[in-house]
Amino acid sequence: VIERTLTHLTWTDIRDLEKEKGVLLLPVGAIEQHGPHLPVATDTLLVTNILKRALQLLPQEVAAWRLPALSYGKSNEHEAFPGTISLSGETFLAVLKDIARSVARAGFRRLAFVNGHGGNSALLEVAARDIRAETGLMVFCVQPAFWIEPPFKLSEEEKQYGIHAGELETSLVLALQPGIVKMDKAVKHYMKPPMPLFGSVSVAWLTPDWSETGVFGDATAANPDKGIALLDYASQRLAEIISKISHFEVGNG
Ligand SMILES: [Zn+2]
Repeated sequence: VIERTLTHLTWTDIRDLEKEKGVLLLPVGAIEQHGPHLPVATDTLLVTNILKRALQLLPQEVAAWRLPALSYGKSNEHEAFPGTISLSGETFLAVLKDIARSVARAGFRRLAFVNGHGGNSALLEVAARDIRAETGLMVFCVQPAFWIEPPFKLSEEEKQYGIHAGELETSLVLALQPGIVKMDKAVKHYMKPPMPLFGSVSVAWLTPDWSETGVFGDATAANPDKGIALLDYASQRLAEIISKISHFEVGNG
């Protein structure tokens, strides 16, 4: 069995790893409100567990190791809700760059951010390009979009606006750690913006603009079976993505 948790290795093990092919994976989560029914660690919990499962599915010949999650992200859209602990954009970028510099110094060639929180996405892209320019690392951003088309039917509303603490996230936490979900507090709530929010025009928003409970979606439609199906699907998708990234080269070859 390959040890895929980088931090379980010694410095000499890490020095001697085959780094020409291979990728280091940094799960990036958030500590932020997820409605009255889910824990504030939801994003970190989900991205870490999906990644752990994906790594177990990889064939032996794929070289990939995970780093400890960056548990905190940029979550100022949720700051009105107690328990949200957010890094500023500046701090978040600085932490990502410091981690990447150490990764490059150790001789790795590929770093991938595996992101569990939409509010981190834009800054991860910024960090990735800056790190590429500064260190020469190949940097990849794996965004939450890779698991939002689940292997079961979602309503049109949920597909479009079930973006936070709704059917998908609630089902996943129910599958992973049912004891920390309060289904009796689960609600259904959709934002009703005057124009689609996720197309070619965007608007900056804060959670209280659209939701009193912090929920966007139908948490009442969640169940553990959907969570297990989604967990399997998401980890398979992620394993395929990691395989491709592990030997990706920039340039025309
Ligand atoms: Zn979330």
